[in-house]
Amino acid sequence: MTVVGVLGAGQLGRMLALAGYPLGLRFVFYDPSAEAPAGHLAELRSSSWDDHDALVAFAGEVDLVTYEFENVPVAVASRLAERVPVHPSPRALEVAQDRLKEKHLFRDLGFGTAPFAPVDTRDDLSRAVEALGLPAVLKTRTEGYDGKGQRVLRRPSDLDPAFAALGGRPLILEGFIPFTRELSILAARGRNGDTAFWPLVENVHRDGILRLSVAPAQVAPTLAESAMGLAGRALEALDYVGVVAIELFEHEGRLVANEMAPRVHNSGHWTIEGSRTSQFENHLRALLGLPLGDTAMNGVAAMVNLIGETPDPASLLEIEGSHLHLYGKPARPGRKLGHVTLVEPDRTALGAALARVASVVDEPSLSR
Ligand code: AMP
Repeated sequence: MTVVGVLGAGQLGRMLALAGYPLGLRFVFYDPSAEAPAGHLAELRSSSWDDHDALVAFAGEVDLVTYEFENVPVAVASRLAERVPVHPSPRALEVAQDRLKEKHLFRDLGFGTAPFAPVDTRDDLSRAVEALGLPAVLKTRTEGYDGKGQRVLRRPSDLDPAFAALGGRPLILEGFIPFTRELSILAARGRNGDTAFWPLVENVHRDGILRLSVAPAQVAPTLAESAMGLAGRALEALDYVGVVAIELFEHEGRLVANEMAPRVHNSGHWTIEGSRTSQFENHLRALLGLPLGDTAMNGVAAMVNLIGETPDPASLLEIEGSHLHLYGKPARPGRKLGHVTLVEPDRTALGAALARVASVVDEPSLSR
């Protein structure tokens, strides 16, 4: 029986295991937190990222390694790769962890990004603001997620407090993109180089956290083609194996690449019920060298994140056709605790189902 080792044991890992059990796979997770939710359904080895002995023991009990958490130290992935296959490769992880490297990759692949400049010192920040203008977004180059580790700069007096909050780490300043909407493209690449793409997804964030995804996004076909082109080139350039997600802004009728996640992604959770093959299953198929599954949709789909608190499950399950996923995590403000997916034959039916979810989930983005 193939044993898949997963670095990180959050909800993404949990959903990977749920997709892998029908394929006869076993899972062992590694996460510094002994409470991590994938531990409820698979073995969890809990130790720090610098516990060499624990990592060696973990490598010894799995056939291959992947990650569901992108802030795994690259050195850990590289060391494990000396013992077992690691997918996506540590190089893909390294690029995806660093907003500066990511932006260079997008540019090298001929894709638009926000204007950007690296910032290490307070003087760098002044020079970068002079070059890019305001408003702009100051971000940590690594370890940011769900809007953490970033500040929007609107006026010169914002520079000092933003640098005081984020400085001391490598930073990047990005020009502010007044986007029309946010989109993402999810794609998979197998060990033999075959690729598969899900339709472009439209995403709504609030306070830097994803609230709602709708697929397929209603965009000009040329934009969908352009997103697939970028994803295909990125997968090829990184000799990537597994699922990747690229977050994009639509701005003035064109796409601007924002960032890349070297893993399954929240904006692809709808694929569990909304696609013939989910992102989780295709990630596993890719790692194992199995054929990738069909990514066609079963209608139109929406996913609503449950953040900070979970409504009474009965009130969500009462909604016809709703699929409820709870991650088994204790409630905390801003925390992703679960999601609801709706799959309907057309947009009118999807809108009606979303309105019913909006009456239960306190989420302003749903009544847009
Ligand atoms: P990120 O961590 O880069 O995904 O940023 C979190 C959210 O902040 C994004 O989903 C956008 O809503 C917003 N954001 C990030 N970068 C920019 C930018 N350069 N211009 C405008 N909004 C941004």
